Amino acid sequence: MHTNSSPQMAIIGAGPYGLATAAHLRAAKIEICVFGKPMEFWENQMPEGMLLRSSWDACHIADPHRASTLDNYSATQSVPVPRPVPLDRFIDYGRWFQKRIVPDVDPRRVVGVEMTGRGFQLILNDGDSVRVQRVVVATGIGPFARRPPQFVGLPSTLISHSSEHRNLKRFAGQRMAVVGAGQSALETAALLHEIGAEVELVARQPKVRWLDQKMRWLKSEANPIRPLLYPRTDVGPPGLNLIVATPELFKRLPRPLQEKIAYRSIRPAGTGWLVPRVRNVRITTGVAVNSVRANGECLSLDLSDGSKRALDHVMLATGYQVDVSRYGFLSTGVLRALHVNYGYPELTTGFESSVPGLYFVGAPAARSFGPLCRFVSGTPFTARVLTRSILAKKGNGFQRNCF
Ligand SMILES: Cc1cc2nc3c(=O)[nH]c(=O)nc-3n(C[C@H](O)[C@H](O)[C@H](O)COP(=O)(O)OP(=O)(O)OC[C@H]3O[C@@H](n4cnc5c(N)ncnc54)[C@H](O)[C@@H]3O)c2cc1C
Repeated sequence: MHTNSSPQMAIIGAGPYGLATAAHLRAAKIEICVFGKPMEFWENQMPEGMLLRSSWDACHIADPHRASTLDNYSATQSVPVPRPVPLDRFIDYGRWFQKRIVPDVDPRRVVGVEMTGRGFQLILNDGDSVRVQRVVVATGIGPFARRPPQFVGLPSTLISHSSEHRNLKRFAGQRMAVVGAGQSALETAALLHEIGAEVELVARQPKVRWLDQKMRWLKSEANPIRPLLYPRTDVGPPGLNLIVATPELFKRLPRPLQEKIAYRSIRPAGTGWLVPRVRNVRITTGVAVNSVRANGECLSLDLSDGSKRALDHVMLATGYQVDVSRYGFLSTGVLRALHVNYGYPELTTGFESSVPGLYFVGAPAARSFGPLCRFVSGTPFTARVLTRSILAKKGNGFQRNCF
């Protein structure tokens, strides 16, 4: 069955990037439809009790009139939003944004995107389909959880990725290892410790890096030149953060330099406010997990320092690896026509892929525009530039306005 109306563009995904892009396209009077459950990834694949790593100023979802910022949301609440921003308040902010700006989000999943002669056909999970001229893929990192090979093939009751959990309470009293050394690993270890698990953090890195520990005075509100040193985007260390905050510049840099900047800006580290919360967590750094064996309902881990661990569960906080071929909805025809490097689509300065009319935003755009695209603070740049590039296309039949 076909849906009756055929808007010009479809946005797949209603997380921060899909919502910000929808807000900008709609303000530019471009007819759009948005698919997906609003803020679903944040609700289902992050742990209850989590606090956002990003600073307040980096948590605004972009709307062109700046009327739906986190500040505006907080002002409407009987209990103001604390800092750092708690996960549940951020989810509520995202939904508040959605209801104000894109109240007509269609919660159905897109299960197929096929090229037609004049655009795309989207197949929805209930069998409906819709034809559009252009598609924006804003479906995040959900399918990209990274599982190192030694952990593959074991039952999910024994080994899981942090993205598989919302509620950690079932691990109370269990012997756990969290593998990783980034914010997610450290915060998961803290949350597990706080609910009464016996938890150890195991990491290959020689030590845990903490952010905001040195040069605290530079970052303090009292420092008059703080805005010059620390852009609101809040990605990367001083100096590099200015490049990361300028994705047009990042895109023009030579590849080896881009890689160095990207690595240095998002290498594993924890925010300073986690330090006291992991004080009583056992942290073992400089070791790799060589092998893992299941013994009935338990696990045995061999570490590279020769020691062993007997555990009830291992939680992988080993991050995400973008690979757009794992978006199950892209048809073979689309994937064949898509130019991809190391899992990332090649994108023009307007976020368009090698398939004309098909755009990617969020983490899949990070190889082209830099690590800013992995964070909410990349939504203003992305939504603005993508909308302008669509408006600039000649003969596209879209109305121009003063956006
Ligand atoms: C533990 C953790 C902590 C994080 N903390 C921060 C932080 O503090 N600050 C920050 O800026 N970033 C943080 N991030 C990164 C965060 O995931 C991204 O900033 C943000 O989610 C990017 O938004 P998005 O819209 O690209 O993706 P998402 O928020 O993942 O939204 C994508 C949406 O698409 C939907 N979708 C997927 N497939 C389909 C389909 N086939 N059909 C319809 N809809 C679909 C999903 O349901 C989802 O709602 C964190 C990530 C993790 C894992």
